[in-house]
Amino acid sequence: MNLEDRCPCQSGDTFGDCCAKFLNAVGTSFPPTAQALMRSRFTAFATGNVDYLLVTWHPAYRPAVLELDPGQQWYRLDILDTCAGGPLDTEGEVSFRAHYRYRNLRESFSETSSFVRTGRQWLYVQALSLA
Ligand SMILES: [Zn+2]
Repeated sequence: MNLEDRCPCQSGDTFGDCCAKFLNAVGTSFPPTAQALMRSRFTAFATGNVDYLLVTWHPAYRPAVLELDPGQQWYRLDILDTCAGGPLDTEGEVSFRAHYRYRNLRESFSETSSFVRTGRQWLYVQALSLA
């Protein structure tokens, strides 16, 4: 993915001005909010960045191995709601709907995810609800 392309997280910014700042600078540049982390993780799914998904996953909940199905193409993210998760918070929740294509079918699912902040790093904890 080129830095000039539209960011997969649908922020409206280019990839270079949006999630690439975090995906390409792990440990140096941190998403400031739970929602920004959520967006960057969606972009990691969309670009097949398994390392980023694991490093931003809370160690107590992180899978030992994560394999992404290359046939699953993530193309749209709708943020539905957020609760806390700001720069001064230590916990937050983000509700979203993620859209993907799989074998020419368009599918989507919604989830409310919980996040915690450790130092400057927001981490994905787990899905609180699925629909
Ligand atoms: Zn983005």
